[in-house]
Amino acid sequence: MDDVTAILDHMNAAQREAVSAPQGNMLVLAGAGSGKTRVLVHRIAWLMQAEGLSPYAVLAVTFTNKAAREMRTRLEALLGLSLRHVWVGTFHSIAHRLLRTHWQDARLPQHFQIIDSDDQLRLIKRLLKENTIDDERYPPRQVQSFISGCKEEGLRPHQVNVNGDAYLMQMVDLYERYQLTCERGGLVDFGELLLRSLELLRDNPALLAHYRERFGHVLVDEFQDTNTLQYAWLKLLSGMQTPMTVVGDDDQSIYGWRGARIENIRRFEQEFSETKTVRLEQNYRSTSAILESANALISHNAERMGKELWTDGEQGEPISVYGGFNDLDEARFIVDTIRDKVSEGFKRSEMAILYRSNAQSRVIEETLIRQGVAYRIYGGQRFYERMEIKNALAYLRLLLNRNDDAALERVINVPARGIGTRTVELLRERARLDNTSLWQALHDGLHDGSLKGRAGNAVRVFSDLIERLDDETSMLALHEIIDHVGERSGLIEHHRNEKGEKGQARVENLEELVTAAKAFTQGEALGNAEIGEGMVALEAFLAEAALNAGDHEADEFEDCVQMMTLHSAKGLEFPVVFITGVEEGLFPHKMSLEEPGRLEEERRLCYVGLTRAMQKLYLTHAEVRRLHGKETFPRPSRFVRELPEQHLEEVRMRGQVSRPLSVSRPQPSWRQQGVEAAGDLPSLSLGQRVSHPVFGEGVILDAEGEGERARVHVSFEGEGAKWLVLGFAKLTPL
Ligand code: ATP
Ligand code: MG
Repeated sequence: MDDVTAILDHMNAAQREAVSAPQGNMLVLAGAGSGKTRVLVHRIAWLMQAEGLSPYAVLAVTFTNKAAREMRTRLEALLGLSLRHVWVGTFHSIAHRLLRTHWQDARLPQHFQIIDSDDQLRLIKRLLKENTIDDERYPPRQVQSFISGCKEEGLRPHQVNVNGDAYLMQMVDLYERYQLTCERGGLVDFGELLLRSLELLRDNPALLAHYRERFGHVLVDEFQDTNTLQYAWLKLLSGMQTPMTVVGDDDQSIYGWRGARIENIRRFEQEFSETKTVRLEQNYRSTSAILESANALISHNAERMGKELWTDGEQGEPISVYGGFNDLDEARFIVDTIRDKVSEGFKRSEMAILYRSNAQSRVIEETLIRQGVAYRIYGGQRFYERMEIKNALAYLRLLLNRNDDAALERVINVPARGIGTRTVELLRERARLDNTSLWQALHDGLHDGSLKGRAGNAVRVFSDLIERLDDETSMLALHEIIDHVGERSGLIEHHRNEKGEKGQARVENLEELVTAAKAFTQGEALGNAEIGEGMVALEAFLAEAALNAGDHEADEFEDCVQMMTLHSAKGLEFPVVFITGVEEGLFPHKMSLEEPGRLEEERRLCYVGLTRAMQKLYLTHAEVRRLHGKETFPRPSRFVRELPEQHLEEVRMRGQVSRPLSVSRPQPSWRQQGVEAAGDLPSLSLGQRVSHPVFGEGVILDAEGEGERARVHVSFEGEGAKWLVLGFAKLTPL
């Protein structure tokens, strides 16, 4: 770019001021859609072009891999050059980079592996069992969040103040044991990435000096969602000397439940010297109907830093509120509307379906599939979290590190090779007594003959398999390694033998993993600098898979409806947005009603949701909802009532009947009529084969309720599993 001032084109005065301010600490505090992220990107460009900052001297931190990729792309477009080496990433990916580079100083084995929260939970369950600790008094998830919470606060076991409390002492003891297990296996969880890299810098003055010297400017997006540890990390790295630009919005802090601290915004202003604060007040994203509604909603929160937000955009269409009879009806409305919008000329990718809980997606997905509407899910059912993918990754992890207990446990008997839970228990016991890994215990057992007979043979087959895979793949390229492991481990075969579409999908996913690996080595994934070959590449790929789980999946280029939780929609924008399940108990989530401060966080989450929409917003709820196998009869969310009535319209059926939203709704039909019980119910039992006139043949998996509410869960061949009301479904026993 010849003219640096071009970076300031299409910017308002406040934005220009922020972008071109002389180097120094700066806080950009502004509401949704006011151009914070845009300012951040343009500021990086400005620093490079106008201030002569080297690309290597920039450290930019965002919250998701998707946002990091986006930032890099926008920056490259702005500057017209490739910036693969610039440090743009999430806190986790940057911490990971530091640990990989300085693994020795970080006291980690060279091939340490990242474990995700699933692996973490599995590990904790095992610890509880091994130490015969009551998992009702110490539920694994609680232990997990205790450990993560400690790490987020930067606390090692010995630093936790237990105050003689027996319960806490047990928790700390578990934390300690957990940590030991991780150390032994070379395993690093997400919290550990950050804490470890903080300790690395803190305890190695020369290293710290090197990085402080290197980075000339540190920039952070979504600063309102930083936690204590991340704040400390930034403080340490910058040494309070390196200038920092942070941007954020207190009204969009939505990770309090995971340790984020809104106060960090105020702290930053106070602790970092001579911080210049810039406020952006013009919203460029949404229609005024949407923006005014969002402003009205958030004004119900008491704890705010106070900001203005206006738009000179047009009023736009009112917000449509749809109340479905049930969740299926809600899904149908959404999909019908999407199809209408497509015929009006919208692209599918311009529409987003947002929900509070991942579990809500299934019904909508099924409806989309049935109507042939392509969609993609961000987060939730993530590609890298799918069972078959995790199994394949576990084999790969074992190739790199036999002591990876989590990986070994996962695949020792997948596909089945006759290693029963009893044998695995014995291995665990042995590993615990000898303080070794499972792999070691397995070999010791084979060696001294305590593992013999059928079990011994089966275990030997497994061990030989891993060794053989290692041999066979040593000279292969990354994607060939993955291909080979999929075939020779028997995983592909295993899923191929599974009946129905599920097995097929799993095989396809495994194939997709090979494709992903190919793309990875060709440098298409992220801005990974040196990927290397063979096992080195494998290591990088596994790290990428663990870090990336969640951000993107499948084909980036297909025109798909975007589905995601409200949390993962942060920072994004879409012309058309559906916020679903806007019901008391679901959104606000029922857990938020008990804890102080949590309701305000839910409202901020709603604010985030509303402000994702550019042109048109739909809020949907259902009068009957089935979630986690239970039926509920929720009321519409209080958040709907907190929106200005003049901006709302109630939609009944496919937008044909529309009238102003009345707060007291007529009695929904299910209450007036009740459900009629059918006369003769067929007598059915679990496991029985049945036939249905539409879905075909299936097997009964589960049943619940009595009389008119009796329902059965039937797994149909080809159609998948469905809950059916016994009185209505015409099931014939076979
Ligand atoms: P959020 O709080 O949701 O993260 P944000 O403050 O980061 O939002 P951006 O995503 O940077 O906002 O910008 C919102 C939209 O407004 C983007 O489409 C951006 O390109 C556009 N925009 C920002 N500033 C201007 C401007 N001065 N002129 C035109 N469009 C702008
Ligand atoms: Mg943003």
